[in-house]
Amino acid sequence: MNRTDFIKTLALFPIAGAVLPLNCLNKLADGLDESPEMPVLFVGHGSPMNAIEENEFVKGFREMATTLPRPKAILCISAHWETQGTYVTAMRQPKTIHDFGGFPEALYQQHYPAPGDPILANEIQAMIHKTPVNGDLNWGLDHGAWTVLKHFYPYADIPVVQCSLDYTKDPQFHYDLAAELKPLRKRGILIIGSGNMVHNLGRLDWNRLNEVGYAYDWAAEASEKMKKSMFTGDHASLIRYREQGKAFQLAIPSPEHYLPLLYVLGLQRKDERLTLFNDRALAGSLTMTSVRIG
Ligand code: ZN
Repeated sequence: MNRTDFIKTLALFPIAGAVLPLNCLNKLADGLDESPEMPVLFVGHGSPMNAIEENEFVKGFREMATTLPRPKAILCISAHWETQGTYVTAMRQPKTIHDFGGFPEALYQQHYPAPGDPILANEIQAMIHKTPVNGDLNWGLDHGAWTVLKHFYPYADIPVVQCSLDYTKDPQFHYDLAAELKPLRKRGILIIGSGNMVHNLGRLDWNRLNEVGYAYDWAAEASEKMKKSMFTGDHASLIRYREQGKAFQLAIPSPEHYLPLLYVLGLQRKDERLTLFNDRALAGSLTMTSVRIG
């Protein structure tokens, strides 16, 4: 019996003091917990300095936030939390992690005091069957999460849980694990993958560091192919990114900034609408291209 049927049943039998069967009550509770399906986002986070700089990318984050239903909580899969095994943050108050070096003091003064959500963390542990998921009390919010969320939700008043990337697993594992998180979308949880689709810091053109729109040929080629595969629903090619030739090898020299994209695609319903924002390259070997599904 769905919620509509249940309410119809109530209308047919409005008996005061009637004892309702437990399964009906549970169903009502489930129904009330359901929300319209939340979009899923992949965000290109780029430099930690985006936390305190004003530029077109942070403007893009803010603009995107205005178009989203207000989430009950956020689940962030960040490039900057790699572990052996899969973990979710389960503390009540995650700390702000300044996981970078050599930046101005003002960046280290930044804090994003969003609460955690131990109940959600527990539910995620229970709903993933692909692998055991461990609760974590030590991590917090790394810069893949907070430097972006700061622009999306500046009041830090929405609970945030992070999920780690198990570096021992292949790309297909990550895509499949994400699919198990789909029910969260109907419960008002905003899932955000945070990385960069093209991310080769070793090849950055330091003389053109802030030059927006500047991409090496291979970076532009990889970016275009990734977008084409996304828009045609060819997730298989994106999962098998290591087989896509030289441009992809240069664009993805290590997997951590790319894998959050596979989580986001793993959460996409068949033929679900996909849009891009912040679709610009930077300094030759980085793209800020961000994706909204739904
Ligand atoms: Zn990063």
